[in-house]
Amino acid sequence: MRNISELRLDIVSGDWVVIATGRGKRPHDFGKKRGDHWWKRQKKSCPFEKLLPEALYVSLKNGDIHKPTHKNVSFLKRDWFLQIVPNKFPAFGRGVCAVRRRAGPYFWEEGVGFHDVVVTRSHEQSLALMSKDEVEMVIRAYRDRYIQLKDDDCVEYVSIFHNHGPEAGASIAHPHSQIISIPVIPPDVGRSIKGSADFFRKHKKCVHCLMIEHELEDGIRVIYEDEKFIAFVPYASRTAFEVRIFPKEHLPTFGSIHNSEITYLARAVKTVLGKLYKGLNNPSYNFFIHTSPVVHTATFQHYHWHLEILPKTAIWAGFELSTGIDISTIAPEKAAAFLRKQ
Ligand SMILES: [Zn+2]
Ligand SMILES: [Zn+2]
Repeated sequence: MRNISELRLDIVSGDWVVIATGRGKRPHDFGKKRGDHWWKRQKKSCPFEKLLPEALYVSLKNGDIHKPTHKNVSFLKRDWFLQIVPNKFPAFGRGVCAVRRRAGPYFWEEGVGFHDVVVTRSHEQSLALMSKDEVEMVIRAYRDRYIQLKDDDCVEYVSIFHNHGPEAGASIAHPHSQIISIPVIPPDVGRSIKGSADFFRKHKKCVHCLMIEHELEDGIRVIYEDEKFIAFVPYASRTAFEVRIFPKEHLPTFGSIHNSEITYLARAVKTVLGKLYKGLNNPSYNFFIHTSPVVHTATFQHYHWHLEILPKTAIWAGFELSTGIDISTIAPEKAAAFLRKQ
């Protein structure tokens, strides 16, 4: 069987790109524009209104977690709150892992991995509008699936992300997150890992722990804080109103989070998304978790996992694309003051 996608290496930058042809788009499909009406029309034909037969993991409204079987499926259908299903159009799938192949001067690998979708039941209720307990179930599903995926032989990184709104690239209006496991360390994560390792060697301290300490002391960019987590607008924000949420304890991997800590994280996430919802009138946004890679031959003790929320307030245009430099049009300190008030 032909692989779903290829990872191709840019031999100049050393960055990976994915050529995913699984959706079978024809060239002229790329020219089609999708208007607002397309986004609104979707509820009728929404694929996520039911518990799907291929669900791998189901969380009920009362928080109980089940693996669907033919015996329990009828009450799961009635009481489900969240399901994890394999993506119908995966960017990564089966294949041979860890074999780097040549194509002239270039290199590629098969796009081996898993591509799952985490779906919550209501079509209208986005994360910002969920109860704290519901957000907690979503984060618990991320953690549980992360733990299952990290031990697969081919996996080097597990990416967990959520796209909200058409400007953030969500192709289905129904609230859903995605979990993709991939056979390489992604460039952005690789740079963060290297940066934090270099800092650690030089200063004998985690760069993220240092930032957390400074932000707590300074307070000017902090928008949320409790015993376990802190949320602040980064000093060097990439977009207007970017927010990062960090565990205060130095932990390299998201997979090690306990249920008791998930309760705190859910409150932090709900609070921050609620502030963005209120202050920016339900903006489109992307959020993702940055965590240490799961390469079994290396450890990443200097890394500090966190969650980044990037409201879609601008699009990457010529300057950003040509330089890799983001432009944020509000001072992070001002953005934080605004969000604190919401
Ligand atoms: Zn729906
Ligand atoms: Zn740290």
